[in-house]
Amino acid sequence: MNTQTTRRDFLSTTTALAGGSMLLASAGSARGQSPQPSATAARHPTLAQVDVLVVGGGPAGIGAALGAAHKGAKTLLIENHSFFGGVAAWSMGMQINQMRPAAKARSRIHELLIDKLKIYGDQAIRLGRHEIWCNVEYLKVAVLDALDDAGCRCMVHLRAADAIVENNRVTGVVVATKRGLMTILAKTVVDCTGDADVAYYAGAATLIEAEALMPMTLGWTLTNIDPAKVRPADIGKAMHQARGKYPLIPSGFIEVKQVANSTSWWINHAGTADLGRIDPTDVEQRTRAECFSRRQALQMIQALRDSDNPALRQLEWSGAGPQVSVR
Ligand SMILES: Cc1cc2nc3c(=O)[nH]c(=O)nc-3n(C[C@H](O)[C@H](O)[C@H](O)COP(=O)(O)OP(=O)(O)OC[C@H]3O[C@@H](n4cnc5c(N)ncnc54)[C@H](O)[C@@H]3O)c2cc1C
Repeated sequence: MNTQTTRRDFLSTTTALAGGSMLLASAGSARGQSPQPSATAARHPTLAQVDVLVVGGGPAGIGAALGAAHKGAKTLLIENHSFFGGVAAWSMGMQINQMRPAAKARSRIHELLIDKLKIYGDQAIRLGRHEIWCNVEYLKVAVLDALDDAGCRCMVHLRAADAIVENNRVTGVVVATKRGLMTILAKTVVDCTGDADVAYYAGAATLIEAEALMPMTLGWTLTNIDPAKVRPADIGKAMHQARGKYPLIPSGFIEVKQVANSTSWWINHAGTADLGRIDPTDVEQRTRAECFSRRQALQMIQALRDSDNPALRQLEWSGAGPQVSVR
């Protein structure tokens, strides 16, 4: 493979890419030297061979996999985490906007997932005019149900670590498993990693638009709050007021809303903005952001538990995302 191939050339001739991949733009910095596609891929055992391999089980990957499976392609969806949903699941129940613009169905896939969630009852989903709120634990199972219905195979705890390139085409990926490196071969590989990982491993030029990056945010939830005694605005206010004692509390926005129809609340916030711009593909920067975010969530909770408001002091920290969400 010619590693000088431009990303545009690469897209038209090799991998089919779904919504998660970064677009080539004039402003941006290279992600780094693209690695040479692995010359040793062939020596790893083959884990699976399919028509369509979708790498990354976030919103883009779920849609791509369901779409391909509905068309009758032998499809495999693989995911680095133990569940599907990507940022939509890591955000811990935050509203998902534009699922139904002006209350109108947006696509068959969106409706399919909404219908699956509705089956679980009103604790699982609340519909707004364009957005939905859902409990992410229900969402994770709803995705499995939809994949099963479509006859789409899936595998978790699989991280694509390299691309297999033959005759200028991506014909599979090398995955990292507990049993070592293995290969998955496919007629079509769809890169839905959110970060264009497969394209990057294949040697395509990729860019990071540092100026356009929004802050990464660790989603987290709290519970045991009496809505009759605490308004969401009180929660954000109490945190901002405690920044003197808890300096990791974000200086920017803090937003608090209900998780679907439950007594739990999710917190959206300016996240790592106070750290400056973080490149999520840089190991050192990413580690710093992940560690900072856990401490930041702790300080936000501590501020509330210290509050003068007895209703706030009773709250419990009920969960946090498996990793920071990269916007
Ligand atoms: C706080 C927050 C709020 C947001 N609100 C909205 C909103 O309301 N509406 C909206 O449209 N967008 C919103 N976004 C943007 C939203 O995150 C993206 O639109 C959406 O997640 C993109 O989906 P995706 O599938 O492309 O990527 P992701 O959700 O990032 O999914 C990528 C998946 O690929 C997996 N993966 C990554 N690399 C590999 C690999 N090498 N091997 C195997 N698996 C891999 C990941 O684990 C992940 O599951 C928000 C983002 C954040 C952070």
